[in-house]
Amino acid sequence: MKRLTIVLAVLAVLLGLRPVAAQTTGTVSFRYAGHVVRAPLFGSRVELVPVFALLGATAKFSPAMGTWGVQLDNHMIQFSPGLRVVLADGKLAEGREAPVASPGGIAASTDFLDSMILSPLGFHLERVADGFRITPGGRRGAPLTVRATAADFSTTTTLVLTMGRPAMAHVNETRPGSVTITMEDASPQLDRATVLRSRRIRGLEPTADGLELSLAPGIGLLSWHALSDPPRVILELGPKAAPPTSAPQAAPARRPTRKGVRPIVIDPGHGGKDSGAVSGSGLEEKNLTLAVARRLARVLRRMGFAVRLTREDDETRALTDRTALANRLDALAFVSLHANASRAASVRGAETYYMSLDSASDATAAAVAKLENAAGSTARSGSELDMILWDMAQAEVLNESAQLALSIQRRLNSLLNLPDRGVKQAPFVVLTGATMPAVLVEVGFLSNPKEARRLADSAYQDQLAGALATGIAEFLRSGR
Ligand SMILES: [Zn+2]
Repeated sequence: MKRLTIVLAVLAVLLGLRPVAAQTTGTVSFRYAGHVVRAPLFGSRVELVPVFALLGATAKFSPAMGTWGVQLDNHMIQFSPGLRVVLADGKLAEGREAPVASPGGIAASTDFLDSMILSPLGFHLERVADGFRITPGGRRGAPLTVRATAADFSTTTTLVLTMGRPAMAHVNETRPGSVTITMEDASPQLDRATVLRSRRIRGLEPTADGLELSLAPGIGLLSWHALSDPPRVILELGPKAAPPTSAPQAAPARRPTRKGVRPIVIDPGHGGKDSGAVSGSGLEEKNLTLAVARRLARVLRRMGFAVRLTREDDETRALTDRTALANRLDALAFVSLHANASRAASVRGAETYYMSLDSASDATAAAVAKLENAAGSTARSGSELDMILWDMAQAEVLNESAQLALSIQRRLNSLLNLPDRGVKQAPFVVLTGATMPAVLVEVGFLSNPKEARRLADSAYQDQLAGALATGIAEFLRSGR
């Protein structure tokens, strides 16, 4: 919950969206338990603060976090102007549109108020002749068709339940291996086309008041979230005991899968229209990363690993597509290659980053992340909520990503006698999507004329590839 709150706050800051409702266009009345308030209207949006007061809820804005928190009984709902994402009792949900800042605090559509705020607080909004009435509880429901799909990853399975219409869902692990999914105002029925293929799911059956999910032995519910458009519930399933991240375990390296061998995915940063950093002599980051990636792939293949590149040529690739490929291939590791730039021409050396959910480990790391993330703004990027979900995918393997980063950085330092710029954490968009250990390596500074000259040299690129390959192989063979 705390982490999600932070993610929400980071998103609010990252997106920097503060749309403001301008002129009021009138007022609308809300009734609850014999009391009435009139709330200002801003076109299709309504001022929310009077409604919170009507319910007796505590509503507070945190300027530091950029988020609103509404508390009633033991419920806590958090949301931000400009964000469609809402955190309701620690669960993420995505509305059809975002609330906006308003003269009275915050304004949103009545649909947002009903489905994203009132419903999790245990209320229901009804349109009446002269405005709206708020009533406790929901409505009894009509049949609702649900389509289920499952995807197995190396340690977890994602189950997606797509609903024929929006309904507030609740997911509970009632006993070990058994999960109940209920949908308010609805009696869910499975789409006849549903065929679940997962080694962690035994079955999914409709019951009197919901769906009953039975899991393979030792598998439990790790987390769940709701999404809209299309409305769906997403369940993360996996080993119930905390997965041993540091304890010795049979190395899953090169375990054969349906598609054969699990590859290492190397991501040559930038490409196509996006050149990345450029040295004084005209060496472009996109060309350097591709050259090093090709060499690295050769070395790793000689070591016996399967390797895939996210791009084979000078092509444009969205940041999110790069990790999507790695996830699709169930990659052993994801390594994104980049070259750095600094305002100080004397700065040199290599840096290895892994994903940070909270904030960058220092101001410089934050600057690097900002630079590399900018490439995503021109390409297609995921929705706000996708970003959070991807973040959480990487959160599960964060320890392993840190180990991979350390292993690579050690090799870069010792083999190349580079000054140690260390392992750092920063919120890189290109790393957020990965469900496997994932790192971003800045192989050197193109802004340093001497280092740029070295980076352009093919013999040096071979050395770099050798150091990277050794670091990656040591990590994969360490029996993590
Ligand atoms: Zn870059």
